[in-house]
Amino acid sequence: MIEVTDSRQAIVGETPVRRALPRRDRRTVGAWCFADHMGPVTVASGDGGIGPHPHIGLQTVTWLLAGELLHRDSLGSEQLIRPGQLNLMTAGAGVAHAEENVATPERQLHGIQLWVAQPESTRHRDAAFEHHEDLPRVDLGPADATVLVGSFAGTSSPARRDTDHFGVQLTIPPGATAEAPVSPGHEHALVVLVGAIAVDGSALTVGQLGYAAPERDTIGLRADATEHAVVMLLGGTPFENEILMWWNFVARTRDEIDAAAMAWTSASDRFADTGSQLGRIPVPPRPWSSAG
Ligand code: MN
Repeated sequence: MIEVTDSRQAIVGETPVRRALPRRDRRTVGAWCFADHMGPVTVASGDGGIGPHPHIGLQTVTWLLAGELLHRDSLGSEQLIRPGQLNLMTAGAGVAHAEENVATPERQLHGIQLWVAQPESTRHRDAAFEHHEDLPRVDLGPADATVLVGSFAGTSSPARRDTDHFGVQLTIPPGATAEAPVSPGHEHALVVLVGAIAVDGSALTVGQLGYAAPERDTIGLRADATEHAVVMLLGGTPFENEILMWWNFVARTRDEIDAAAMAWTSASDRFADTGSQLGRIPVPPRPWSSAG
């Protein structure tokens, strides 16, 4: 049995996205706490991308199927992101970044941005950045898996991880079935990026989240007969804490969010300059605070 829910429509910058996570009744799946599926869209010529904004307490995982983005952050990183490459930024106590559109001829953008909540042991520590151009792959019969983070079917990604979680991209030919081996201690989420699949007799397509509870050792996914499917399989040990997530911050208390918001608004050195020419994104008003 999987639980299927519709994603919410949201706008990030000027780009419409399908927000699969978080959900009111499901804030985290393992440490995964946010999933925005963007595109495929044609990027407007005047759209420079997402300007500088801060993060705390999370890792951003940016994964593209088409198009390019230029990542700049307050650690001094400047990294072009291409399809099939893992862009992984760890915010810790604080980092700022910008995701700039790149003038490719097609101007197509298709991808997913995921966030991973950091555990108590690392969330107050230094920010960090990694980029992995070559990731390990696993042959799953007719299907193929790319391991972004963690371990899958005995193959491990070189990417940093602070909790017991994993993320893979599965590519399944039309009509074929992929049997994904998983750990009984993990819970799992499925986000379809291309095509449609059937899982445990449930149909799952673009714009939905599939959730599978722990206590299983395999997940069988069958692609629609007419089109190949590309699916993100995310999983992990249920997260250690209840998180408080607001805007770009993952914390535990409102005081932590207020402090981060005020640091960004006052341009304190908790969030250094990203080097981006795009405008800084201001903090929206917090529902519980009159401080702004
Ligand atoms: Mn961001």
